[in-house]
Amino acid sequence: MENVRNVVIIGSGCAGHTAALYTGRANLKPLIIEGHEAGGQLSLTTLVENFPGFPEGIQGPELIENMRKQATRFGAEYKLGHVTSADLSKRPFTLQFGKETVQARTLIIASGASARWLGLPHEQALIGHGVSSCATCDGFFFSGKEISVIGGGDSAMEEAIFLTRFATKVTLVHRSSQFRASKIMLDRAKHHQKIQFLTDTVVEDVLDVSQKEVTALKLRDVKTQRVWDFPTSAMFLGIGHIPNAKIFEGQLDMDQDGYLKTKDYVFTRVEGVYACGDVQDRRYRQAITASGSGCMAALEAEKYLEQQGIE
Ligand code: NDP
Repeated sequence: MENVRNVVIIGSGCAGHTAALYTGRANLKPLIIEGHEAGGQLSLTTLVENFPGFPEGIQGPELIENMRKQATRFGAEYKLGHVTSADLSKRPFTLQFGKETVQARTLIIASGASARWLGLPHEQALIGHGVSSCATCDGFFFSGKEISVIGGGDSAMEEAIFLTRFATKVTLVHRSSQFRASKIMLDRAKHHQKIQFLTDTVVEDVLDVSQKEVTALKLRDVKTQRVWDFPTSAMFLGIGHIPNAKIFEGQLDMDQDGYLKTKDYVFTRVEGVYACGDVQDRRYRQAITASGSGCMAALEAEKYLEQQGIE
């Protein structure tokens, strides 16, 4: 049993790093398996203005890097890799990532959520050629161009505002005229000179795969059913996220959208397995709440190990 880890954490966003910091300080030498999108959603964002302690705000990637440094100082070990299977039926739990297998006495699932796609006929073929879910990553490539952002929540507003740094014009396309975005973000976007809104409009497809670049969106007005080609150089998606919990199907409880269900904040139905952050939180989804639940998961893992006589 030498190779058995006290704590394995899946995911390296705010929840994972915070769990790593707490279990690290408890001397439990946590192993963090980072996942495909190391750093989580914060590493794809720009200025974070609502994480307490930074009166001027802080860049998302810097905040996440600070969290990693802080956890590493207390003995957290990070490994690149994506967990492809997990067996929670036997103790210690077994996880597979890449060619490696690791066993864990406790497991903290902090695997977050990934960008949602529209599912258009030519969307996937044009990813990297004008279709993107990450304004911070790809916005620069569209300097001096007219581009589109899809969605009506805070992500879409944030992307649209950010993209005005590069684009000559940003068109925000939203399927209704009701917005989930907070008033402050919506107002900022609405009052921005470079942003125009197209509401009650859905995207039917993205063109033009034969040219290997985005040239237009096929749009439909849901009120009039008019369909037209809207010229644009890029389509950025800001339509929400899907929880990364598929590998736990059949082993842990999930809601209809695949979010892990937890009891008393972070407990799953398997003793010693905790879930925190966006993989279990469809309601708040904030950096600070993800960090908070990462802390709770860590404290519960610590308590559980102590009850098992493992210090
Ligand atoms: P939301 O779930 O809030 O919004 C998703 C948006 O995408 C909705 O407008 C929804 O439309 C639209 N949408 C979903 N699926 C489709 C589809 N298939 N076709 C067209 N439109 C679609 O997600 P967000 O990612 O915007 O925000 C998630 C959370 O993160 C929120 O709590 C938000 O406040 C927070 N956040 C905060 C930020 C900040 O404060 N700086 C920045 C980014 C996010 P409809 O309304 O019609 O369902």
